Amino acid sequence: MSPTSNMLTPEGAAERISRAIEGIRRQPLPLENILKPFEEIFIARARLRAELHSDMDLPVKAPDPARFESGAPLTSEEALAISSEADWAIASDRILSALERGFPKISDEIRVIREALSDGTVEPRRCQTALAGGRDDDLAHIASTIGVGTETLRFALGQVMKPIIERKAEGLAPLIAGLRWHRGYCPLCGSMPELSFLKGDEGQRWLRCSLCGHSWRFVRLACPFCEMEKHESLQVYYIAGREQERVEVCNECGRYVPCLDLRGRFDGAVLEVAALGLVHLDLLAQEKGHLPAALCSWNIVRGQDITSWPAGLGTSGEKGHQTC
Ligand SMILES: [Zn+2]
Ligand SMILES: [Zn+2]
Repeated sequence: MSPTSNMLTPEGAAERISRAIEGIRRQPLPLENILKPFEEIFIARARLRAELHSDMDLPVKAPDPARFESGAPLTSEEALAISSEADWAIASDRILSALERGFPKISDEIRVIREALSDGTVEPRRCQTALAGGRDDDLAHIASTIGVGTETLRFALGQVMKPIIERKAEGLAPLIAGLRWHRGYCPLCGSMPELSFLKGDEGQRWLRCSLCGHSWRFVRLACPFCEMEKHESLQVYYIAGREQERVEVCNECGRYVPCLDLRGRFDGAVLEVAALGLVHLDLLAQEKGHLPAALCSWNIVRGQDITSWPAGLGTSGEKGHQTC
């Protein structure tokens, strides 16, 4: 496995993402429409994440092992999203500038959002709680106040928050090291996975969180979304000749997760961008009528059903909204 961003300088972290995206680009797949707009954002996010201090405010204590192991995540998206004014100011300026360049069709709206955050028209803390706390009414109100679309605001704020959330998650991961976790959602923040990957001689299955980037081990033959362990309900699709890239579909709940088989791979997969290189499989699964376990900005489907709930989360939080 290649080093993670917390071991690299900002330039090294940016270079690592850039090289990984170039690697995807060299594959004979029609992915340029996705790579081009997202490239700058991923690079800007990686650079920023490496710059953020490791002693960021982390008001989270070690969990009660019994409560945690029964399925209560360490913390929540909302708690991770709250950040200092200084971190937020740098993140919004850098990430929104990258978004403006990568997404010309919405660049005017992104500029309005960037300016509103920078001149104080919109309060950062209100944005953080509206998005991460699932307060859609407030998000829509903020959007209409500054004259942008709610979905554009959701997308923009989500991108700004992501490097801050990922950096905090890196700092919190030691609190749950050694504790058992058997759920399909993230043990740190409770979000659904954007990617499944197999590694090790025995092909251990791991999931990568769509929000905070944490990875955790999960049962090989179970659906992360509904957690059904019914082998006959799970189906795998792949393109002939590219068997190491798959999409795992659950016929019980209709959700899917893209999967990368890293067994025997020594070129250091960069997990941060791996899901981008599997978008062709998102399309394949969606053509067959399935929905992603985690809605990400690159896999959003038309007519999406975001009303179903992942296993274990009940009505404690809407996990259908876009997390990455
Ligand atoms: Zn997470
Ligand atoms: Zn399922």
